[in-house]
Amino acid sequence: MSQYQAVKGTRDIFPEEVTRWKHIEGVVHSLASMFGFSEIRTPVFEYTELFQRGIGATTDIVGKEMFTFLPDPTGRSLTLRPEMTAGVMRAALQKNLLSMAPVHKLYYISELFRKERPQAGRQRQFSQFGAELIGVSTPAAVAEVITLMMQVFESLGVRGLKLRLNTLGGSEERLRYRDALQGYFAPFHAVLDEASKERLEKNPLRILDSKNPDMQEIVAGAPRLYDYLTASSVEDFEKVLFYLRERGIGYEIDHRLVRGLDYYCNTAFEVTSSELGAQDAIGGGGRYDGLAKEFGSSSDVPASGFAVGMERLLITMEKQGLFAALDSRGPLVYVIVQTLELGDHGLQIAYRLRKAGIKTEIDLAARSMKAQMREANRIRASYALFIGATEVETGLYALKNLVTSEQTTLSLDAVIEILREPAAKELMQ
Ligand code: AMP
Repeated sequence: MSQYQAVKGTRDIFPEEVTRWKHIEGVVHSLASMFGFSEIRTPVFEYTELFQRGIGATTDIVGKEMFTFLPDPTGRSLTLRPEMTAGVMRAALQKNLLSMAPVHKLYYISELFRKERPQAGRQRQFSQFGAELIGVSTPAAVAEVITLMMQVFESLGVRGLKLRLNTLGGSEERLRYRDALQGYFAPFHAVLDEASKERLEKNPLRILDSKNPDMQEIVAGAPRLYDYLTASSVEDFEKVLFYLRERGIGYEIDHRLVRGLDYYCNTAFEVTSSELGAQDAIGGGGRYDGLAKEFGSSSDVPASGFAVGMERLLITMEKQGLFAALDSRGPLVYVIVQTLELGDHGLQIAYRLRKAGIKTEIDLAARSMKAQMREANRIRASYALFIGATEVETGLYALKNLVTSEQTTLSLDAVIEILREPAAKELMQ
């Protein structure tokens, strides 16, 4: 026992679980590349102002959840990244990517840090995969981002997800709507909770986001942003929905889904999982044409993106038994020596099998043959290769299929030939 524990809100990921992560990451990498997205990796920390500007000072993330530190008494404040969009946009602008090509499609799988109260599905260090499409934000581009996200879920076999969408319109429409909201909520001022009172001044759209049950009735009667949209905003949104329908992607419209920052515009979306408890959001995203301006760009840079929480995706997939096939895979062959003296010979055989590209395991602790058999079964090896005195003499080995119990006697070359066959190889995948 160590006297140290992992820090609250962080966790270790042991080999069995790493296999699951790699499975998800593999699907993300291959689908992202199929959609023409390239991977980007940005630093784990950035200047604090980047997040203050990029996420918004009125948000919970910036207000109370950032891990901020001073590198030295004279240095500028730094923060461990609580999300990826700000860093990716900073990187794109810093490198002047848009002068090289008009559109950049980037994706990531990254670790993030938020000082939240840890609970199931909410950690202080967690991971997201996501994508940012920078340079164009037509309905086709936004639909492409949503499609990539939904296709990852589909390829992984995840069920019971709900995609909700809303449109936030353009900035002028939101300004008019903001006035309407302030007008609507003002008479309720006395009964609003503290958070909502604060939001009423700074960012009334976020009152709609309130999770407080006492606020639900008031919020339900609030005017809808949709009624303040111009025809072209409605058309833009309808076109995104049209693409989703064409692709058989189910969705619901949720007029209360908001991203309360000025640089978000038009389509916003969120995916929830019925397998998760209170923290049921598994991913979300939207269009953020105005973000670049926050970072000093002279004009808007059309962009949209999504982010999905890896841990919550994992929890969902575990509950749905989607890792069963993965968990049953062991090494292809376990080399078993009948007596201690044959140990070195066994090691040499294992070496040759591995050189031939065959996933091989062997005992390194000089244990009895019975113990080796038990271990081969425990780690779910597909085959056992027996090394006995006769085998060494004749150069013919007994290869046992541990699933069917069939056994054949073969030369090592023939063993390699068989284990390299596509069917056997598939077991290794
Ligand atoms: P957000 O960037 O807040 O929109 O979060 C996007 C996704 O990241 C969420 O839907 C969650 O799946 C995941 N997520 C956010 N915060 C946490 C956290 N503290 N721990 C684990 N997952 C998180």
